[in-house]
Amino acid sequence: MKKQNIVVIGGGPAAITIAKTIQDKMNVSIIRPEDHSMIYCAMPYAIEKLLPLEKTLKKDAIVSDAKAKLIRDKVVSVDFENKTIKTEKDTTLTYDKLVIATGATPVLPPIKGHKLGNVMTFKTEDDLKRIIDLVDNGLQKAVVVGAGAIGIELAQALNERKVETHLVDMTDSILPNMVDKDMVQNAQKALIGSGINLHLQSKVEELKGSKVVKSVVLGNEKTINLDSNDNRSTDLNAKNITGIVVFAVGMRPTVEIFEDTELEMARDGIIVNEKMETNIPDVYAVGDCCQFTSGINGEVISGKLATNAVPMGRVVAFNLLGQNRKYTGFFNGTATKITDFFISGSGFSETYAKKYFDIEVGYAEFTTAFPIMPGAKKVRLKLIADKKTHKIVGGQIISGEPVADKVDQITMAIQFGITVEQLTIFSYSSQPYQSFYPAHNLIVKAAEEILKKLK
Ligand SMILES: Cc1cc2nc3c(=O)[nH]c(=O)nc-3n(C[C@H](O)[C@H](O)[C@H](O)COP(=O)(O)OP(=O)(O)OC[C@H]3O[C@@H](n4cnc5c(N)ncnc54)[C@H](O)[C@@H]3O)c2cc1C
Repeated sequence: MKKQNIVVIGGGPAAITIAKTIQDKMNVSIIRPEDHSMIYCAMPYAIEKLLPLEKTLKKDAIVSDAKAKLIRDKVVSVDFENKTIKTEKDTTLTYDKLVIATGATPVLPPIKGHKLGNVMTFKTEDDLKRIIDLVDNGLQKAVVVGAGAIGIELAQALNERKVETHLVDMTDSILPNMVDKDMVQNAQKALIGSGINLHLQSKVEELKGSKVVKSVVLGNEKTINLDSNDNRSTDLNAKNITGIVVFAVGMRPTVEIFEDTELEMARDGIIVNEKMETNIPDVYAVGDCCQFTSGINGEVISGKLATNAVPMGRVVAFNLLGQNRKYTGFFNGTATKITDFFISGSGFSETYAKKYFDIEVGYAEFTTAFPIMPGAKKVRLKLIADKKTHKIVGGQIISGEPVADKVDQITMAIQFGITVEQLTIFSYSSQPYQSFYPAHNLIVKAAEEILKKLK
């Protein structure tokens, strides 16, 4: 039987997952314009010089080893009726099945001055090279707008490279979409202690300057002076740029090429069902370009993470291979590192959960190893449960040691509808270097606390 032609628009984690899953069982073509697919999560560490820049670039062999064809081009339009694609290099391609995996683009809010020379966002290889080049050539000041994980990781990298760094956010605590204020206070203090100038409850109102930003005006009558010489080149690669403003305030789906088509879209992206099918036959969409819902309450929620894009890619690939897989929604387990603190969150924060549930919370604090062992660090956990069903709807952890695996246990509880009562009998392991004493476990302790309050 003739192999089907699967065309995937995009070269990010969602597209690569599809190629790796299908292998040579079908003819898969991946179209992407940029020189390299990126390991975006590692970009801040290349600025910090923990990694050489090359380590953040994926090798094209990742596609060819999966037996897929890599086409270096940009799609300019799709004719869904005739199943053809037009590219920037004026090529026309045909497909049997099309997967849209065009990702998302950083938001640059239309604040007065946002088009000035030294204002940028942070996602592409060019963005990364520009920042590294500027820092290597004596960048003095940076204003990073957005205290989410990307903004914080970028700010820390710049601060490490001795750039005077200001981090600005409208909210009253850092990582507002990941963890509650009560869990992040120590990390916030440590961030300030590391030398970063943190401006919370501060909205960027205007970027002042004629060629480059001279000062950043904040809503609370504060101003951050950036550059005394407003006559500098507007070329961001120029050696004489001494200050930059970087926006890390969120992503919007990259869907411009579909704007005047019959493809159904909403504010957060292309509308898909749980099989990642769009409203057009034989057309699927996966990853950051899609709008999807929370696996907790079924409401539309943003989930622009690689850890959502990859499972979506897997669902579509297995379905193209004839299976019947379904994507069950975003749970948004995320993690970051602030100075020596590892922080993670999953599901809904307490603040967010209160919009939908009557909730109860429980805490536990132990050490990462037996307290008598050398190197044992503190670890604090917060669990959030729905009072009505007793199901877990969120959890957060902060520790002196990595916590991603721990938060994944909470995600599993949320995803599979585990109740507080069930968590109190969670069967755990213990070893002097790797956990608290057998006498207790973080999740069990926090669940016990919630259960006591519920009674
Ligand atoms: C600095 C940074 C740090 C991050 N850290 C984390 C992290 O720690 N953990 C995590 O889970 N997520 C993280 N993310 C988010 C994660 O990178 C994204 O969620 C993920 O890349 C989405 O994958 P995707 O394949 O859907 O889209 P993308 O990776 O955005 O890929 C989209 C692809 O589509 C291509 N494309 C777009 N339009 C066209 C067109 N017209 N024609 C052809 N190709 C096109 C693009 O060029 C690109 O190749 C981070 C993101 C950034 C920017």
